[in-house]
Amino acid sequence: MKRFLILAASALLAASAFAQPDTPVVQFLRENPRRAAFNTHSYEFLPLHDTPAPKGYKPFYISHYGRHGSRSEWGGFQYTFVRDILAKGADEGILTPAGDSLMHEAAFIFESYNGMDGRLTPRGVREHAALAERMYHRYPQVFQDGCKHIRAVSSTVPRCIVSMNGFTASLAAIQPDLDLDLDTGETYMEYISRSENETISDRTRKVMAERRKNAPALDTVTVLRNLFTDPAAGRKLIPDLERFQAAIYATAKVAEAFDIDDNLFRYLPFENVVRFHEENFLSAYLNQCNSELNGELRLPRAKQLADVLVRQADDVITGKVQRAADLTFGHDWPFLGLVCYLGLEGVSDRLSADEAAANWLPSWNCPFAANLQMIFYRSRKSDRILVKFLHNERESSIPALKPVQGPYYDWNDVKAYLEKRVPRTGIVAHRGWWKGNAENSIASLAKAQEFGCWGSEFDLHLTSDGVVAVNHDRTAKGIDIEKSPLETVRAITLANGETIPTLDEYLAQGDKSPDCVLVLELKPHDTPEQENALVDGCLKALRAHRMYDPDRIAFISFSHHICRELARKAKGFTVQYLSGDIAPADLHREGINGIDYHYSVFYKHPEWVREAHELGMSVNVWTVDNRTDLEAMRDLGVDQITTNDPALTRTVLWEACR
Ligand code: MG
Repeated sequence: MKRFLILAASALLAASAFAQPDTPVVQFLRENPRRAAFNTHSYEFLPLHDTPAPKGYKPFYISHYGRHGSRSEWGGFQYTFVRDILAKGADEGILTPAGDSLMHEAAFIFESYNGMDGRLTPRGVREHAALAERMYHRYPQVFQDGCKHIRAVSSTVPRCIVSMNGFTASLAAIQPDLDLDLDTGETYMEYISRSENETISDRTRKVMAERRKNAPALDTVTVLRNLFTDPAAGRKLIPDLERFQAAIYATAKVAEAFDIDDNLFRYLPFENVVRFHEENFLSAYLNQCNSELNGELRLPRAKQLADVLVRQADDVITGKVQRAADLTFGHDWPFLGLVCYLGLEGVSDRLSADEAAANWLPSWNCPFAANLQMIFYRSRKSDRILVKFLHNERESSIPALKPVQGPYYDWNDVKAYLEKRVPRTGIVAHRGWWKGNAENSIASLAKAQEFGCWGSEFDLHLTSDGVVAVNHDRTAKGIDIEKSPLETVRAITLANGETIPTLDEYLAQGDKSPDCVLVLELKPHDTPEQENALVDGCLKALRAHRMYDPDRIAFISFSHHICRELARKAKGFTVQYLSGDIAPADLHREGINGIDYHYSVFYKHPEWVREAHELGMSVNVWTVDNRTDLEAMRDLGVDQITTNDPALTRTVLWEACR
């Protein structure tokens, strides 16, 4: 009994922590408690509303990105955990009617789940069929008046393919003469569902762990009273009350997907539901949206999908292809990236974790079957193309952009806005992020990776016994690296105490963050033979580490000979020449596909940036550390800036974005 009183007291304390005015998120849950399922909340079909288009404008093309519909979760252990504890309660005759209901509901969900992780449920199919029907009847002229060709492409994941089938079958049932073209495959995955970034997930995990530590205690009493006629006896059946409640929350989250009408969240105290909900959605917001924490890393990763959709629309607008609609079926992560990249109101706000916890409406922004529809309009009397954005079928706006009228935007304005949405220039940390560390140390590479730099640069020499070592100067602490064996070189310690690293050690650290490009600077050596051996040593190491990949590795060198050798031996890789004394066209003739020149060179030859780009070459600039030069190089449109100050560089790059 004493223990029970302590539990009751802690519940009161927990309740008092919430005795504040409701945040918009909490109000949103009170309106419809099933929204606590956040991104596993089934789609809410609301009445449709269309602001009349400007006079003379008619819709002619739709671009639709749809997240798969309602699905099962992964692993059935949450449902069986709840079911089995309650079954013991039933055996002892201590279940309340609510406890009995929950036991049967958990059992039903487990049976329906049937061992199929992430499977689209029948409700998920119906959601997509209904979305298609609503889209058709909302804009029938798109499908009836012009070309009847529709192209649909799906993620390779079965729930998305089945969603695509549900959607397109619904269109075909309404208008059988539509020409439907369906496809899926690995090639599409790069833009439909680009993989997550580990720096983003690591940062999010840290913030969430910190918040968990500071979260108010859960009410552990109410749930016992709800489910057991004898709460103290019920308590003995539960090994971990927090885990038990988390399992009830997980069971409740997915109930709608299996067409259970009952709101299973009601078994938990509302305050606990609010806490579980926040833990779930906030991590998704920080990972997937334009958060203060990760937005500058997240938005650039959404660019590729947006670019594909823009190109598809332009192909239709210019008459290159004849098509009524492009339909794309994918997942929540790319969907949220896309709507945030577009800068749609509400969903794309850049918020701190606290602000998002209070204000960002998760199930409103990304339920099952969440969708973006871009409806394109044209008029016989004008060349101007208008576009309207529908976020989950609701007219949306881009607050940073002035519409022509109501929710209708000039397509050219939208494209110009998207051109400046994220920086086009990658940040290369010069010798890693070495401030507070040591140049060319493993720690400096790790910090550049953690900051989410586009790339991290380091310098390479060949030891006398043929090992590739990482250091800027040829000589360190009186040891000439190129004339000494590795054993001697290893006596060199860096300013942070690390032993001078080998290329192998550097690559092992580089492999931990595939998104951060390793920029290998191969130092000039005394003879062409030594330089050839350095090139061969680097390529061999990359192959051994399975990092022989042009998306992960770039080469730079002051040695013209080394650049020529790399261009010949490492086809497809970026090779940038450093010395600044050769025009891009001359390098291009030798097969060298990039320049990386000191910024003073570009002040003298700004035309070399365009010249290089017109030849398909990449342009990097070193080593830019002050604001004036950073702004000048940014405005010249270089592809990468190599800097000792990645933080300032990022600030300056983002200042030119909207
Ligand atoms: Mg260097």
